[in-house]
Amino acid sequence: MTSTMVVTPYRAAPGRACGPCTLCCKVYALPEFEKPPGVWCRECAPGKGCKIHEQAPAQCRNFFCLWMSDGKLPEAWRPDHAKFVLSIFPANGFVYGQVDPGLPGAWRKEPYYSGLRSLARTILSERRHVVMFLGEEATLVMPDEAIPLGGMTSADQFRIEPAFGPNGPTWRAVRA
Ligand code: SF4
Ligand code: SF4
Repeated sequence: MTSTMVVTPYRAAPGRACGPCTLCCKVYALPEFEKPPGVWCRECAPGKGCKIHEQAPAQCRNFFCLWMSDGKLPEAWRPDHAKFVLSIFPANGFVYGQVDPGLPGAWRKEPYYSGLRSLARTILSERRHVVMFLGEEATLVMPDEAIPLGGMTSADQFRIEPAFGPNGPTWRAVRA
């Protein structure tokens, strides 16, 4: 199963609008249109918006990325600048990032990498995590490192738990 937008109860923060961002129309799959993740939707005018607006599937109309719903995130974190889309997965409260395959390493640059590790530190006490997805490759972002988790998508059910690897204590994903 590939990564799709997850409809969340979140709403746009006051003053927030997508503007020229259309990145969620690229990075996620859209099963209604048989659109795979990582390619532009046939109805998207990149940098302008959706050509079918109110006729767009509910999955699209009800999706608000984290930048849209959290008015404290700086402008640089708008997904078309950052080159990844963050959202909160309702089932576990994890922050999932879906990466633009056109610039797969952008999230590892600043200010993003420091910001993601800081976010990981903040939500760790709630047993929540930050996971970045590039296609079907997942990477767990922890306060001090990024740990490859292997092949999985945001649609997979998994939990993160402590583990012990060849280099000492680490973390791993365990499928539910
Ligand atoms: S990724 Fe966020 S800001 Fe960009 S178009 Fe989608 S909902 Fe709007
Ligand atoms: S239908 Fe519209 S909103 Fe939905 S992915 Fe395609 S362009 Fe984006």
